[in-house]
Amino acid sequence: TFTTRALAQPLKNVDELIDSVETFIFDCDGVIWKGDSLIDGVPETLDMLRSKGKRLVFVTNNSTKSRKQYGKKFETLGLNVSEEEIFASSFAAAAYLKSINFPNDKKVYVIGEDGILKELELAGYQYLGGPEDSGKKIELKPGFLMEHDKDVGAVVVGFDRYFNYYKIQYGTLCICENPGCLFIATNRDAVTHLTDAQEWAGGGSMVGAISGSTQREPLVVGKPSTFMMDYLANEFGILKSQICMVGDRLDTDILFGQNGGCKTLLVLSGVTSLAMLQSPQNSIQPDFYTNKISDFLSIKAA
Ligand code: PLP
Ligand code: CA
Repeated sequence: TFTTRALAQPLKNVDELIDSVETFIFDCDGVIWKGDSLIDGVPETLDMLRSKGKRLVFVTNNSTKSRKQYGKKFETLGLNVSEEEIFASSFAAAAYLKSINFPNDKKVYVIGEDGILKELELAGYQYLGGPEDSGKKIELKPGFLMEHDKDVGAVVVGFDRYFNYYKIQYGTLCICENPGCLFIATNRDAVTHLTDAQEWAGGGSMVGAISGSTQREPLVVGKPSTFMMDYLANEFGILKSQICMVGDRLDTDILFGQNGGCKTLLVLSGVTSLAMLQSPQNSIQPDFYTNKISDFLSIKAA
């Protein structure tokens, strides 16, 4: 048997929602900020929730920055958020390796930007690739063979604006020729909003290339996989039924909350419009939806 979820309801009774959970997990882009601009009313909303004793956690699939780098971004935007409250998919990749006791004498090949390297370094792992391989070209001559490091035990793939054929081939060799080599993806977002003028190819495009050449499916550590939810619930000792996941994307954020058994709230301040939510093509229904999180301050119970 399977159950279909009820259609999402407009958020009407804010106090009831706030009282029903002890933790709010906020997605970042589309909920807290858009690119580098803070969304209206966010500081006041977070202050109000903290004053009610709610735990606040911030989760982003954008792997280009580390926890520490996100800490700076929050600070620059005038938000009082500590590194320990931030769970980026870059951090999730390193945390996942730790959780499976990935050996320190093995190396990680990184296809992605700086954030992943920073988190691997903090976790005490040796890595290669990343931005260093960004300008590399392959000169094909008869008999040319690319060497690869036999100690690479995991390939981590995240969003990479400097993705190239060298990285594809190197990662593919590691995954296909090193026994037991893991294939880990920070996230598979199809598109992202690097600028608000259009949609841009997201981290899923780099992951798809490696999946295409290796014919393997990655283990995803970012949303909507349950890894980060389990990790942070465990870290803070919180029951998932006591969490409300707030996000702007149905196939990452809302699914992430539902996979974890949390309450879910979709905000329309990011990539999802009301028309998309209500389209017959959409099968993902959050519990509630509202325009933006600062509606928490203005909606009055009927
Ligand atoms: N990946 C990249 C490269 C991004 O630029 C973004 C948003 O800016 C995301 C993923 C999604 O981030 P979030 O999970 O915070 O919405
Ligand atoms: Ca988002």
